[in-house]
Formats: sequence, structure tokens, C-alpha cells
Amino acid sequence: MTPTRILVLNSGSSSLKYQLLDMRDHSRLALGLVEKIGEQTSALTHTPLLGEDAGKKRVHETRFADHDEALQAVALELAADGLGLDSPELAAIGHRVVHGGLRFSAPTVVTDEVLAEIERLVPVAPLHNPANITGIKTAQALRPDLPQVAVFDTAFHTTMPEYAARYAIDVETADAHRIRRYGFHGTSHAFVSRRTAALLGKDPSEVNVIVLHLGNGASASAVAGGRCVDTSMGLTPLEGLVMGTRSGDLDPAVIFHLERVAGMSSEEIDTLLNKKSGLVGLCGENDMREIRRRIDEGDKQAELAFEIYIHRLKKYIGAYSAVLGKVDAVAFTAGVGENAAPVREAAVTGLEELGLAVDATLNSVRSDEPRIISPEYARVAVAVVPTDEELEIAHQAYDLVRESD
Ligand code: AMP
Repeated sequence: MTPTRILVLNSGSSSLKYQLLDMRDHSRLALGLVEKIGEQTSALTHTPLLGEDAGKKRVHETRFADHDEALQAVALELAADGLGLDSPELAAIGHRVVHGGLRFSAPTVVTDEVLAEIERLVPVAPLHNPANITGIKTAQALRPDLPQVAVFDTAFHTTMPEYAARYAIDVETADAHRIRRYGFHGTSHAFVSRRTAALLGKDPSEVNVIVLHLGNGASASAVAGGRCVDTSMGLTPLEGLVMGTRSGDLDPAVIFHLERVAGMSSEEIDTLLNKKSGLVGLCGENDMREIRRRIDEGDKQAELAFEIYIHRLKKYIGAYSAVLGKVDAVAFTAGVGENAAPVREAAVTGLEELGLAVDATLNSVRSDEPRIISPEYARVAVAVVPTDEELEIAHQAYDLVRESD
């Protein structure tokens, strides 16, 4: 029997998300999430997607001391559905790894040497890479015979030209500390830009696309002929668009000013900019649904937060139109991009000279399918293209293990 299943793991510092997919038809067999790993009470939510129990959530509230215990519990849940991780049908485990630096431009089978390199990148991704490493080691212990494939969030952006990736700071200092723009959400930007080309009936090599990944984290990318040429996140995911809790772009001197004038430590400023800024900092709320509800009630603070969010988004659409020269499509994706029609409308309003417009009726349609929402006359297609990072990770992992068979 040829193994066709891929388990996708996305390990956070205290969480573990997973999906089991069958790559013959890309169907999901099960998915779930373990939260609050290491806390007093953790929660495992498992949903089988096949058989009699399909769609019936099973929730366990108990303590999982670490990722090892969490994954063992996930394995038991899968086994109860007849999908045990000891199954010969499992082809590989695909891991989302946030930072692959310059070295990893493609999915990679994890070896000791690869793991050491991911570890060497911890200083540039202190919040994410340690959790990803833990996830890989835990999965290795469970199935040492199985290929573990690392799929990097930064990989799609390694094609950025040097002039887009390099900050205008002293070259020696930058190189000594590996300071440059890496970009993130690459798996999503890759998936969505390809899907957008397909929606236009073209090959990715034939089209230029601006991808707007607007979730709680948010980033934009300029993709020319299938290759990323610029993206809004930088050394870390802090740069660029206004996000749920991150500031995005700001004058770096704000940091020195806060140190000097407010007496804040670098840790405090880090927390301020990553966790207490963006929409939360501006109006105390990062859920776009709630922000829209407050605006409808006449809340001025929520309205200003929305305007700041949209203003930044427009600046990036304009910048990437200039970077690409010719734009075939602008694709909205992730939680906000896929669901918030007012954000899509506001983002393109006033950009008619760039060829952008949305049709109000098409924009208001709710669907899980990729779709065009611009009127027929528009020069640039505006599209809503749901992202699927798990499917993309599964694809990349599966293709890699099949190639090496
Ligand atoms: P993500 O990080 O891609 O899961 O996106 C999460 C964000 O999407 C939430 O914080 C909300 O702001 C936004 N979101 C989710 N559903 C909706 C919706 N129906 N309308 C507007 N915004 C939404």
C-alpha cells in the first residue's frame, strides 16, 4: 500500500494545531487543537471528519505538561477514530516552521543538521522557532521511522531581490546579525497567489498578483510571475500592515524615545508593539466584526482604528502596484480578508486610477470558494481567495516524500 496520509502539525509555544489529510483526494480525515499546554488545565478539541462521528467535537480538559503529552493524547484520539499514527498509511508529518532564514527556500526533510540550523535561527524568531522545534522532536519520538518535513513560513519570500530584502543600515552589522527582511505567511502567499492565477485561468508565471493576507497577523506581498518580489513583514512579523495586536510600520526612533522618556525596558516595548498595539492598541479590540459593530453604533475610536488600518493597507497596495508595474489581480485572504466585505471595499475605494474597484453585490456574497468581486470593466481583478495553509503544507510535504521515494 502506498502511504497517502499527511499529518500537519503547527506547534505554538503553548498550543498544538493538527490536521490529518488524505492526499489522494485532499480530504480531511480529522483535525484538532490543544491549547494551554503546560498550564493548570489544558484543552484538547478533536473533530473526526469521517464516518458516523464526522463533525462531532470531542473536548478533553486535563493537564498536558508539555507538547510530548499533548501529541500522545492527539495520537490516542486519532487511534480511536481508526486513524492511529502507527498506521502504514501515514506518509509523513509536515511541520509549520516559522523561520527558515536564507538557508531554507523549500520544504526540507528534517535531519539532525537541519534541526540544528532551525535552532541557530532562534535569535531571529525567539517566539516561534523553539515551539516548532519542540513539535518536530515530539513527533520524531513518536514515529522515528517517518519523514518529518519542515515547511517554512519564510521560504516563499527567499526570491525577493536583494534591494527589497536589505535594510538600509550598515552592511557589516546587518550581516553579522543576519538582519534583513525575511517575510512571513509565505505558505499562504504561495497558495493564494497560485489559486488566484488559476481563478484567472492563467499559469502563475503569466500573472502579477498583490496578496493581502489579513488575519490577526497581516501581511501583503507582491508576486511577479509566481515569484515573491516584496513583502511587508521583515526581520520579524512586526513590520508592515496594522494588525490585530501589532503596530506594523513605525519610526524606529519611537523605541529609543520610549526608553528615554517613558523609562520602558526593551522587553516592555517588545510587548507593547507586538501584543498591545495595532487594532487592540487603537480601540481595545482586534476582532473586525466587533469593530464594525461599534462603528455602526457611532463609536469614533473604532472608526479611527478602522481608518488607520485601511490607510496603511492602501499605501501597500499603491507601493506594490509600483513595484510590480502591472498588476493582474489583488487577492484578499485570511480571517479579515475572506470575511470582511467593508474592509475590501474601503481598501480599494479611491484607487480607480490604479484599475481597482469592487462590485457591491459580488463583494457581499459569502462563500468558501475563490471568487472575483470586481466589476467586469475593471482593469485589475479583485479576488477573495480563501487560504489553506494546512493543505499547502501537506502538499509540499507529500510531494517531497514522493520525489525521494
Ligand atoms: P485569522 O488570523 O486568519 O484566523 O483571522 C482572525 C481574524 O479574522 C479575527 O481576529 C477577526 O478580526 C477576523 N474575522 C473572522 N471572521 C470574521 C467575519 N465574519 N467578519 C469580519 N472579520 C472576521
